[in-house]
Amino acid sequence: MFDFSADGAFQEKLDWMKEFIRTEVEPLDLLFTHGGDPYDTKNKKSRAILKPLQAQVKAKGLWACHLGPELGGPGYGQLKLALMNEIIGRSYWAPTVFGTAAPDTGNAEILAMFGTEEQKRRYLQPLLDGDIVSCFSMTEPQAGADPKEFICAARREGDEWVISGEKWFSSNARHAAFFIVIAMTNPEAPAHARFSMFMVPAETHGIKIIRNVVAMEEVEELDSGIHGYVRYEDVRVPLDAMLGGQGEGFKVAQARLGGGRVHHAMRTVGQCNRAFEMMLERAVSRCTQGKRLADHQFVQGFIADSAIDLEQFRLLVLKTAWIIDTQPHGAARTHIAMCKVTMAKVYHDIVQRALHLHGSLGATHETPLAAMWMAVPQLALADGPSEVHKAQVAKAFLKNVQPASGLFPSEHILPKREAARKRYAHILDAPEVAA
Ligand SMILES: Cc1cc2nc3c(=O)[nH]c(=O)nc-3n(C[C@H](O)[C@H](O)[C@H](O)COP(=O)(O)OP(=O)(O)OC[C@H]3O[C@@H](n4cnc5c(N)ncnc54)[C@H](O)[C@@H]3O)c2cc1C
Repeated sequence: MFDFSADGAFQEKLDWMKEFIRTEVEPLDLLFTHGGDPYDTKNKKSRAILKPLQAQVKAKGLWACHLGPELGGPGYGQLKLALMNEIIGRSYWAPTVFGTAAPDTGNAEILAMFGTEEQKRRYLQPLLDGDIVSCFSMTEPQAGADPKEFICAARREGDEWVISGEKWFSSNARHAAFFIVIAMTNPEAPAHARFSMFMVPAETHGIKIIRNVVAMEEVEELDSGIHGYVRYEDVRVPLDAMLGGQGEGFKVAQARLGGGRVHHAMRTVGQCNRAFEMMLERAVSRCTQGKRLADHQFVQGFIADSAIDLEQFRLLVLKTAWIIDTQPHGAARTHIAMCKVTMAKVYHDIVQRALHLHGSLGATHETPLAAMWMAVPQLALADGPSEVHKAQVAKAFLKNVQPASGLFPSEHILPKREAARKRYAHILDAPEVAA
């Protein structure tokens, strides 16, 4: 009933990916800075290396595999995609080389689901081909985790919508060919029907990037990052720029996060694998007090805890992928939230242990662990803080639970023992046993 192996043909693809990423793609992580480079379609040097690599991936039939057959993808289920993302996760550039970089994947998903034929023609195809990148503009300076607090608004004027407001952490704003912006269109409606989604070409008059916010693991100069603090100053778009129906902004936003979270979780498994391998190598390479680090029990504890954490996390993600593949839409919601929470914790713990075992070298920029460590806080924030996902998990488990019928819990031993005694009284009290 359970099988953890990939079939032969698919395993061959995974093996090819492993080797290709190690030899051809990981060097890009070292040649270009972290941050926006994979998204910078105008950087001639990186494009000159990237395009032939993307062509190899396309020729192998491994380009943008998250897409369904209707969009030219192979229709792999989530389990296969999870195994692929585990390998892709090892390298910062690999998602771009394989056509699976966020936020473009999620943006393509909602365009495919809710876009008009014209929107798909204009935005979707070049996005799928990797010719442009895009931006998802939702979080605001005063509100992120609770979208009900968003105030950026769009008002109707004749044949146009006019968008006004500010957005924060709009990743890739400065490289994007278009923005998907959520704005309030129905202020009087209930919260879930108050917002709508808009397709806004980057060249539209009134889009101002106040600053390009730098995440910790990116280059150090302020204002050279990839997360746009964006002001929409009376940005005018035609009525047909709406993505989905009026008031359906939350519905469209929700639709983009399911599969993407599982892929992100499995890419994090890939990063954890890398940190864990570094931990193992260090443990057998360095000696102290006359023996290898690996022979000290504290270090063995680090290794055992990391192996166990990683295995549990990986199995959780694979089970979640399996639920998506085999059960009705929405059945994996709680598991996806569990993955999101576990991902941040396991990544933190494994990277911290790996870094610590590397001693002073671990505290430098001279190993990949530095960028991993600085990315730790993001994992518990992007796509919503862990607290919100934990609350969602708890509510799902609490939903159908009834209160105890009496003063004591239903597992209270005294009445249960009395019931057990009654259940078997005919045997316990039978003369041949009682005697
Ligand atoms: C690397 C990265 C990339 C991102 N890219 C994008 C993007 O492309 N587009 C975009 O729109 N946004 C993006 N974001 C923003 C992201 O979606 C928000 O950071 C996230 O929704 C949290 O919002 P916030 O940062 O405003 O934190 P807040 O909402 O201010 O939350 C701060 C803290 O308050 C606590 N908290 C909040 N809500 C609750 C609750 N219900 N219960 C208990 N505690 C709570 C938590 O401790 C939380 O960490 C990105 C973020 C990161 C880190």
